[in-house]
Amino acid sequence: MAELKKLSESRDLTRIERIGAHSHIRGLGLDSSLEARAVSEGMVGQQSARKAAGLILQLIREGKIAGRAILLAGQPGTGKTAIAMGLAKSLGQETPFATVSGSELFSLEMSKTEALTQAFRRAIGVRIKEEAEIIEGEVVEITIDRPAATAGGSASGSSGQSSSAFKTGKLTLKTTDMETVYDLGNKMIEALTKEKVQSGDVIALDKVSGKVTKLGRSIGRSRDYDAVGPNTKFVRCPEGELQKRKEVVHCVTLHEIDVINSRTQGFLALFTGDTGEIRSEVREQIDTKVAEWREEGKAEIVPGVLFIDEVHMLDIECFSFLNRALENDMAPILVIATNRGITTIRGTNYRSPHGIPPDFLDRLLIISTQPYTEEEIRKILDIRCEEEDVEMSKDAKVLLTKIGAETSLRYAINLITAAALACQKRRGKIVEMEDISRAYQLFLDVKRSTQYLMEYQSQYMFNEVPREVDEDE
Ligand code: ATP
Repeated sequence: MAELKKLSESRDLTRIERIGAHSHIRGLGLDSSLEARAVSEGMVGQQSARKAAGLILQLIREGKIAGRAILLAGQPGTGKTAIAMGLAKSLGQETPFATVSGSELFSLEMSKTEALTQAFRRAIGVRIKEEAEIIEGEVVEITIDRPAATAGGSASGSSGQSSSAFKTGKLTLKTTDMETVYDLGNKMIEALTKEKVQSGDVIALDKVSGKVTKLGRSIGRSRDYDAVGPNTKFVRCPEGELQKRKEVVHCVTLHEIDVINSRTQGFLALFTGDTGEIRSEVREQIDTKVAEWREEGKAEIVPGVLFIDEVHMLDIECFSFLNRALENDMAPILVIATNRGITTIRGTNYRSPHGIPPDFLDRLLIISTQPYTEEEIRKILDIRCEEEDVEMSKDAKVLLTKIGAETSLRYAINLITAAALACQKRRGKIVEMEDISRAYQLFLDVKRSTQYLMEYQSQYMFNEVPREVDEDE
């Protein structure tokens, strides 16, 4: 019974929330003049890189410059991905932020250039403006003239044939039927604005000429009918708020439009991710359509951000694709990150900085990240403890910081959960030094693991592999 309870508790926990590696990052932590605050929005230190990212953020917000590419370069665990995430959070809902890891491009069931094209189009937003006079589902009261004989029948029947028909029969319907409402919508708005119609007023609407006449509060007086002809509909303006011209804005990405138009199952493929390859004709048609919308002022392009992590995993073909894709005037801002030094460019025998071809390197704005000081490591660990809801004693934090400085920030962050579990096991409430030591002994950091390997390598498989192998081969 107890086991069952435990199991269901742990299930509940997984259902509630999972804490990701960057879940504590809520922005770039900049002030209004784009200076990086020492600790803000989950971000610590790395001030000049964050400030540079802030300038990029401004570039993106202004949306004027297309096809810029930024490289975040620095040692492992120096916050490159964290800065990209901070940028994403600061952008807001409407600006698309697509992320892909270099290695993913080679594992999808599609060509790498198709995968890159999809990633690019996920980073390009389209703001579609639609004018909607009446909100779907809203109850609108419409009074339609009806000949006496058919009064009470279907609302879609014929309009009044003569003015006398109006006197003998009127049908008032409350409708949510959007076709009827849209039919009347534009003209109704015209009347509302031009004739200064109030709620509850009745207007006569000539369906053919579009002429509208304000009839006052009721349509009982005969002079009202003189003003109207056989094609007239009476519209009673709904009580309450007058209908105003509303602008409904939809924000979608080019990739979403591609998917919806390319598969029979349409948008469902967006949820499954099983979008497959999209034919270039579909994309061309969509680009033409979007260009038309832009010209008519119905849509605007919102260039977002495409973040490619582990960019050294890309090969020479991918880099040449990126070179070309950035020339497009709809191109998003490209942010790439790598922790590699001078290494081989995949698909060639040449070596270059970060494994990036020199011509591509030349178009990049480079932001470098620096290793953290002990104080900064302590602050990041503090934030992570809070994020993971772990209470830790001061001494334990000092020890964990020391470990972080000696090994790596990532290793120290990983020890938080392990130490919390050790503490839980001994039924403690606060993580103490002993829990940290326990976790440190149980899990090796890279340095100790390598040392161990050196000592026992003869007992491992493939230990005969020569030592001078390139890191990417
Ligand atoms: P790699 O090159 O190995 O991919 P990276 O430079 O992308 O490393 P991150 O993954 O960003 O490093 O950082 C490692 C961890 O430290 C993450 O959990 C990240 O959120 C956190 N972190 C890094 N820098 C900061 C920072 N300046 N403020 C707060 N948290 C940070």
